Formats: sequence, structure tokens, C-alpha cells
Amino acid sequence: MDPISQETDQEITNPFAITTTPSPPPSAASSSSSPTTLSRYENQKRRDWNTFGQYLRNHRPPLSLSRCSGAHVLEFLRYLDQFGKTKVHTLLCPFFGHPNPPAPCPCPLRQAWGSLDALIGRLRAAYEENGGRPEANPFGARAVRLYLREVRDSQSKARGISYEKKKRKRPAAAAEPAAFPPPS
Ligand SMILES: [Zn+2]
Repeated sequence: MDPISQETDQEITNPFAITTTPSPPPSAASSSSSPTTLSRYENQKRRDWNTFGQYLRNHRPPLSLSRCSGAHVLEFLRYLDQFGKTKVHTLLCPFFGHPNPPAPCPCPLRQAWGSLDALIGRLRAAYEENGGRPEANPFGARAVRLYLREVRDSQSKARGISYEKKKRKRPAAAAEPAAFPPPS
């Protein structure tokens, strides 16, 4: 997994911003440390985990974490696209492949690949930290990896942006995590 993301300006909007304060995951009871002592990454990971938990609770038909598969994770990622802020041009758009279009166009807004990639990395870690077995981790499923690769390639073409790795000037850990904004 490569946590490098160049999409530092693209945030995933919290689709549950209108709900009440998220409660901590049930199995996190052993952790009594104050949130202020946690790193930004850890905070983000916890928010992402709560968001996914809410997604499962709102799922129809109801879906438990233990029955969650890679296909459900893909469903979640596609669901998040409606909150995206990244313009992804269609093949028919005159700005297809233009990184800086000179005018607006009606193409859809999506979640940027870098945001989704970082999100999946955090959820994959959170799943195992919350007692999930690594071999059953739906966020590590092959279908999810393939989907992310497909999103990267298609967004790279549509936006005229290369996601190829640049020369390593900084440790990967410095990559900015994509963020759900804090609940308002
Ligand atoms: Zn367009």
C-alpha cells in the first residue's frame, strides 16, 4: 500500500454531519487517552471508522461488520462520491485531460483518488485495531485494490494529472491524510 497522496486539497465531506456526536467504537473501551493526545492521523482514522460504522447502521438491509465484504466497501466508496469535490471530466467533455480547464463544465464531482486511497488505508488499519482478523479484512480485498487502481487511472486521464510517484524527497509518512471535517 502506498499512502502517498497529492490530493491534499481534496477533502471528503462528512455525509453524517447532521447526526449527533459519534460514539466511540464499542471495542475501543480499553483506550482511555484523551483525543487531544492523539495524532491527526489517529483522529482521522477514528472519525473514518465512526463514519463507516454509521454507514453500516444506516444500511438497508442491515449489515454487520462481520458480514462486510469487499463488495460492501466498494458500495461505500461509490456512495461517498456524491459528496465529492473533484471534477472528473467525461470523455465527451472538451476539457477531458485538461488539468486547468478555462471554463466550467457540467461533468460530475467525485471523490479524488488520493482521498479514497488514504481513506481505505486508515479503515484497513482501524478494522484490525478493532479486533478484525487480517485475513478477513474487507478493506484489503482484491476488489478494493483493483477499484482504487481503476479510479486512479481514469482520474489521471480525465484530469490530466499524473499520479506516478515522484522522486522521494520526503518520507511517505509526511503525506497529508485526506480528511473528513470534524462534526459541526
Ligand atoms: Zn468536464
